[in-house]
Amino acid sequence: MKIPFLELRTQREQLRPAINAAIESVLDADWYVLGEQGRLFEEEMARFLESGGASQTHVVGVGSGTEALHLSLVALGIGPGDEVITTPLTAAATAMAIRAAGATPVFADVDSHLTLDPNAVRARVTDRTRALLPVHLYGHPADLGPLIALCRDHGLSLIEDCAQSHGTLWNNRPVGTIGDVAAFSFYPSKNLGAYGDAGAIACSDGELAERLRKLRNYGEAQRYHHVIEGFNSRLDELQAAILRAKLPHLSAWNTRRRAVAAAYQEQICHPAVSLPTEKPGMFHTYHLFVVRTPHRDALRRHLEARGVGTQIHYPVPLHRQKAFAFLDQPAGACPVAERAADEVLSLPVYPEINDAQIAYVAQCVNAFDAEAA
Ligand SMILES: *Cc1c(COP(=O)(O)O)cnc(C)c1O
Repeated sequence: MKIPFLELRTQREQLRPAINAAIESVLDADWYVLGEQGRLFEEEMARFLESGGASQTHVVGVGSGTEALHLSLVALGIGPGDEVITTPLTAAATAMAIRAAGATPVFADVDSHLTLDPNAVRARVTDRTRALLPVHLYGHPADLGPLIALCRDHGLSLIEDCAQSHGTLWNNRPVGTIGDVAAFSFYPSKNLGAYGDAGAIACSDGELAERLRKLRNYGEAQRYHHVIEGFNSRLDELQAAILRAKLPHLSAWNTRRRAVAAAYQEQICHPAVSLPTEKPGMFHTYHLFVVRTPHRDALRRHLEARGVGTQIHYPVPLHRQKAFAFLDQPAGACPVAERAADEVLSLPVYPEINDAQIAYVAQCVNAFDAEAA
């Protein structure tokens, strides 16, 4: 059996008529940037978040998840001289966006769920701190309660990185509607994926949404009238139309991801491999199914030899990356994240993986001989 880590073809085949019709409608309209499709997607994404129980939400489509974070920071007035506390166990994009805004990322360690540890955050707050930027890593919500309290106590903004958590619930509320602003990515591999780069920002503040609409489009208030300095970061019409065709399936896909995770939980049983858990009251959307073992590299080779594709999210915590060496955060600064980086392994999880494939992956993990490795 050959089980790729990620497989997009089956889903595209299932949706072929709808996707092709969506693409054709954009081509027929001959309107490619900032049009009807983008506007409708923004509305439908806002309704999706609200249907999860949120109050009124505005969604602003942008060019990518990275840009969604970058523009959010700029819109909140965060820039040079400001510090933003985030996790080192995330996609580099999270911290790159902070740098793009001119601010300084400050890495705080993660907790046993591998999301930002509020106690570590508290120790890193200074008088230059302007925002906290938790990531709902792998689809599990960050520990938002204490982070919200820290924001309130220190006058900080809360920016949610929702690139891996479309539809995730924190205490029955959709993530992306809890902080001041939230960034979504629709990179093709995400739970809701475009066929190219795409992203969106969600917020409840209508004025902030208006500022974001200007920022994404050269600071324009009306055509050729630029009221602030802006950028070019727009969700294009082709991607918006594709996302509109896919959004109605997102809830069912998340349900299936949870079923895949439940099957792994039931079938994988290995003394040296620990499985991800869901905290009570949370709704994990399993963007990734990440196991941990001290024999990670050997397990990865074992699975690869049996045709099972895996990935590592993430092998090098951001404070240990060359690109951020100038921040001078020493090895050992985030011990929980550093240890996780050596132990985490992501197994295949996507809605289209079938039960026989799941059983095969589980069987291969169970057959791993950690002693011989
Ligand atoms: C994918 C991802 C991003 C970046 O999104 P892009 O659309 O690729 O720019 C940011 N943060 C996290 C946690 C991600 O997984």
